[in-house]
Amino acid sequence: MRTTLFVNVIIPLPVEGVFTYRVPFEWNDKVEVGKRVIVQFGRKKLYTALIEEVIETPPKQQAKYILDIIDEVPVVNDLQLKLWKWISEYYMCTIGETMNVALPSGLKLASETKIYLNTEVNFDKSILNEREFALLNSLKTYGSLTINEAIKITEQQKIIPLLNTLVEKGFIQTEELIKERFQPKTVTIIEITKKYNSEENLKSLFDKLEKKAPKQLALLMAYLQLSKFFSENPLPVEKTELLKTASSTNAALNALIKKEVFTEDTVVVDRLKPFEKDKYSRLPKLSDEQETAFSEIKKYFAENKPVLLHGVTSSGKTELYIRLINETIAAGKQVLYLLPEIALTTQMVNRVKRHFGDMMGVYHSKYNENERVELWSKVKNHNNDENIKLVLGARSAMFLPYNNLGLIIVDEEHDTSYKQYDPAPRYNARDTAIYMAMLHKADVLLGSATPSIESYYNTQINKFGLVELKNRYGGVKPPNIEVVDLKKAHKNRSIKSVFSQELINEIQKTLDNGYQVILFQNRRGFSLHIHCQTCGWIPYCLHCDVSLVYHKKDNKMRCHYCGYGVPVPDRCPECGNTAIIMKGYGTEKVEEDIKQIFPDVPTLRMDLDSTRQKMAHQKIIQSFESGKTKILIGTQMVTKGFDFGKVMLVAILNADNLLSYPDFRAFERGYQMMVQIAGRAGRRDVEGKVIIQTYNPSHNIINMVKNNDYHGFYDAIISERQEYFYPPFVKIISISVRHSNQMVTDNAAKELTIMLKKVFANRVLGPEYPNVSKIRNFYIKNIIIKLEKTIPLSKSKQAIFDAVGRMQKLSGFTGVRVIIDVDPM
Ligand code: ADP
Ligand code: ZN
Ligand code: ZN
Repeated sequence: MRTTLFVNVIIPLPVEGVFTYRVPFEWNDKVEVGKRVIVQFGRKKLYTALIEEVIETPPKQQAKYILDIIDEVPVVNDLQLKLWKWISEYYMCTIGETMNVALPSGLKLASETKIYLNTEVNFDKSILNEREFALLNSLKTYGSLTINEAIKITEQQKIIPLLNTLVEKGFIQTEELIKERFQPKTVTIIEITKKYNSEENLKSLFDKLEKKAPKQLALLMAYLQLSKFFSENPLPVEKTELLKTASSTNAALNALIKKEVFTEDTVVVDRLKPFEKDKYSRLPKLSDEQETAFSEIKKYFAENKPVLLHGVTSSGKTELYIRLINETIAAGKQVLYLLPEIALTTQMVNRVKRHFGDMMGVYHSKYNENERVELWSKVKNHNNDENIKLVLGARSAMFLPYNNLGLIIVDEEHDTSYKQYDPAPRYNARDTAIYMAMLHKADVLLGSATPSIESYYNTQINKFGLVELKNRYGGVKPPNIEVVDLKKAHKNRSIKSVFSQELINEIQKTLDNGYQVILFQNRRGFSLHIHCQTCGWIPYCLHCDVSLVYHKKDNKMRCHYCGYGVPVPDRCPECGNTAIIMKGYGTEKVEEDIKQIFPDVPTLRMDLDSTRQKMAHQKIIQSFESGKTKILIGTQMVTKGFDFGKVMLVAILNADNLLSYPDFRAFERGYQMMVQIAGRAGRRDVEGKVIIQTYNPSHNIINMVKNNDYHGFYDAIISERQEYFYPPFVKIISISVRHSNQMVTDNAAKELTIMLKKVFANRVLGPEYPNVSKIRNFYIKNIIIKLEKTIPLSKSKQAIFDAVGRMQKLSGFTGVRVIIDVDPM
């Protein structure tokens, strides 16, 4: 007897759970977990879904058939599915949402493929069944149809098998049934035909061309040179390269092809150029301190404990990573090395590449879809000698199809860019890495000069092992940190624009000694506030509840939330006065002012605005690294993983900005940022200098930065967190209620809070307007739930879902969006 099989599939939509479909008998051997199938979901829509489970028990309701199986072999493995499930449960989103983020869109399909009637055949009703005839008839009427349209018009469900038959019978043509978006990259190559491999023939060809066709002769010469024709292994030549080298035309080349001198062929090539390993790369000898740290890390790994490596800036953490990677690969396993997106600079990539060459792949958001799919398959087939063993990537690199991970490294583990804000899943890659390592039975190493309070706490309760590097490599002293009081500077008039006299002197001295300077300002643009001096008018964004920021380059005021921009008005739109002034300053203004003080010094700026183009970031770094640029002005971007030997002075122009985030993590962030910036100074040989300008020179956090006192910082923060119930002592789940109508937002948030309080009582805080209470025309209100660690999490999450569901069913609230964020940052 034949068994009837069913599959549970994940649909790429924010719908709860998996859905059951029936498998046509003939595909019983083909269905497999991790393969993609085409299913109909909702009224008439087709989706690419992923098989999550194959089962024999029929569902209670009648199941629709799957329409097609796309893959010969699964694209997703079991460990990936387990990771998706964990992420979806922990971060409270649907598995469809997780799949959408996890799969490169090159692996998702377009069901918009067109089908056409084959005009050369006449169809005769007698040889067609009713369904076939109906479809062909509609095609005759409409010319062409997409698959979705065909389903709608013919009201036929199982249409893909039907289309297949019609294609086979020659009645219709398709642009490929369901077209894969992933198009391999091809190039045209030129090769000489066998006939001209003989010296004699080649010579007579030469003579002929010399007289009659000089253009063709040029092509032939170029070919011989490019292919290394007279060597042992001549190579085929790329058509474009050949034409370029010979400065020739298609016509000349076609003539030679016609004469059967050359053949032309199209081949698929790798899009990702493999990285080249240094010929003589050797692992450096570790210092005694590094050696000790290395063996401590291994000791904890042997106990299956995650390790936090707390190493001061420039202590050689990266060198330790390279060691560990090397060992893991030698043991036949894969390594995932996570970095914050903007730390994935050429500098970092080159440093690691030197050792691992083409075994390494890089994955970040500047890569296009096709490149992602290629890396995907190279990671998947890692057992093949030629494939990827090490992935250096930003957080989304977690989703590649590893099947044999031995080690996960999370560098700069404190960095907030490990958290995904939008869309769901709102996961934190650092925390997810801990689970992922468990899943793969892999080791996991978190590294930072300024560990997050959470991770350090985990070492104190023995959940993580703690390994420390207290000294900079090579005995270089930590930079000398000097705090400058801006209040005093203003009073003494010893300040020019935003630069204190101390700073100006120090810049001059550094440049005189042939060294470089980094100036840090965490705000971009030219000036923060524009306002009318007469009536106090401030320009606001039309769509968001924030004031606009002046950008000098295009003389516009812009919204940093939605990009909305308008020219600066000549007169105040409220009172008509012309006294519009600008106050505060961003990177652009710093750049302009420093150029006035040091007019002959080459200066560059690095922020979101100056790095929008694809290679801009690299160019700035290159110019700085080569020593051409002497002063670099930047935002957070200049703090991550920068290792420049000639930077001797780093200045934080306004430290107060760094300590004023309206969040319980403000001081933690401020401390981390300042220490990281300071860490860019004096990384080799000579002791560097840091100047911190502030209106609060006696601020506790600034003192801790100055004294390099991480432990004092940790003690102060952790006792505060305990006293006021903040992580790591409680878990925070934040719930954001959004609607385009302010009143609806208010009422929905109020209603939801009442429901939540019934379950969670005073653990519920709010609702409150966030700092920016309207973004892109949506009004926002936030509710916070603080859960003690002893409360069972899954029950709480269910209670939250229930409350949200009930609220959204109330009349008037159906369009209300609710965004849930677990462990918000
Ligand atoms: P971190 O990652 O802790 O900031 P790095 O690994 O970047 O520190 O090391 C700082 C500098 O010291 C780098 O230029 C690095 O090449 C060098 N360095 C660190 N350890 C060694 C070593 N064992 N041998 C030679 N150079 C080293
Ligand atoms: Zn005015
Ligand atoms: Zn806006």
